[in-house]
Amino acid sequence: MCLATTSQLVYGPGQHPLAFLVFPILIWIALRFDTRMICLANLARIIVAIWNTEQGTGPFAATGKLADQVLQLQSFLCLTSGSFLVLAVVVLERHRAARILQESEARYRDLLENIGDLVQSVNSEGQILYTNRAWREALGYSDEEIQSLSIYKVIHPDDHARYRQKLQRLRNGENLCQIELRFVTRAGKTLIFEGNSNCRLIDGQLSATRSIFHDITDRRQHETQLDSYRQRLEEANRRLKTLATTDALTGLHNRRAFQERLTEEVERAQRFGHPLSLLLLDVDHFKQFNDSFGHLVGDQVLQRVSRILEAKARTIDYVARFGGEEFAIILPNTEGSGALILAERFRKAIAAEPFPNRGITVSLGVASLKAGFSMSADIADGLALIKSADEALYFSKQHGRNQVHLARELRHVLA
Ligand code: GH3
Ligand code: MG
Ligand code: MG
Repeated sequence: MCLATTSQLVYGPGQHPLAFLVFPILIWIALRFDTRMICLANLARIIVAIWNTEQGTGPFAATGKLADQVLQLQSFLCLTSGSFLVLAVVVLERHRAARILQESEARYRDLLENIGDLVQSVNSEGQILYTNRAWREALGYSDEEIQSLSIYKVIHPDDHARYRQKLQRLRNGENLCQIELRFVTRAGKTLIFEGNSNCRLIDGQLSATRSIFHDITDRRQHETQLDSYRQRLEEANRRLKTLATTDALTGLHNRRAFQERLTEEVERAQRFGHPLSLLLLDVDHFKQFNDSFGHLVGDQVLQRVSRILEAKARTIDYVARFGGEEFAIILPNTEGSGALILAERFRKAIAAEPFPNRGITVSLGVASLKAGFSMSADIADGLALIKSADEALYFSKQHGRNQVHLARELRHVLA
């Protein structure tokens, strides 16, 4: 409309040389409207120009003959229409490029906004530049609040140092670094995020970091819970093992543990060519003691005897309750002569102990395997040693109790 009016002004009655007035309007139309509108406007201008020139008005009517006028008008219209259309094409091309860019940006934004992972971009001062929807929802901040939010307000204070450390690594040229950080939501809840960060450098300076995280709070909680279950299970197993191998009354190793240890010690002695001794110890007339002072007092005596045995044994010795009022002591790397000395030490210590009601004595039997003994089935499981020590103990009982004897029947025992 504007172009038609201006055209009428230019080409209409008045003989003014205003032909170039149409240019600004042509440019404006080219920038402002689409192809159809541009063509229509140009057509209207051409019709006005032709009609008015033909009527003998306008800038071209003033120039000589009609043939010259038409020629000039045609040249002018061709020139202006040509430049007008070229300009329009350029402008439209620019619009198309801008639209493509807009669509592509919308696609990327849509992708970032709708993925489940948490995306953030933060500048070198810690100012948050961008967060996606998942990030904002997880941490409870609105779009507006993010505008003025510092990353240090959302990262857990105890993790600031770690975050700064990672930033330094990025500044030092590391391409991508893995990071696990605790974040604090707007409501004060702590979440654990794990992900990757990289950085945008401008002129070698860190301009912003881009990070993508996923929330591993639940996973970490399950892991911690699992860890605590595992620790409790291990503790329960340890307790169970202790219970299964400990004698409840005396706290010494029980018969089962003794049996296992004896087998191991026989094997070890054989492998290293060491001697091995075993003591069996039995409290004398203990039935009588129980009958006189009661079973509970008898229990206390057994406990006290156990402490004496532990105290007098060497660190390598293995003291166990064999059963009832009988005890067994494994003496690794000990020959019969040495075992006899130790047995005497135990006997004397117990005989010298001031028990509350009356004195207690013990009888002992000693059996030994010589260094370099040859293995057989009954030696391997410790039965031969137990049997011989028991026979020696019986001998001690038979010969008056409160004494120590060395088994002689076993072929491997010291003479
Ligand atoms: P000996 O000198 O021949 O060994 O005589 P003894 O009376 O000690 O032997 P006997 O085998 O006749 O009796 C063993 C006694 O040990 C009987 C039993 O009541 C007692 N005894 C076994 N285990 C325990 C225990 O755990 N606590 C108490 N208080 N007594 C026990
Ligand atoms: Mg007995
Ligand atoms: Mg006894």
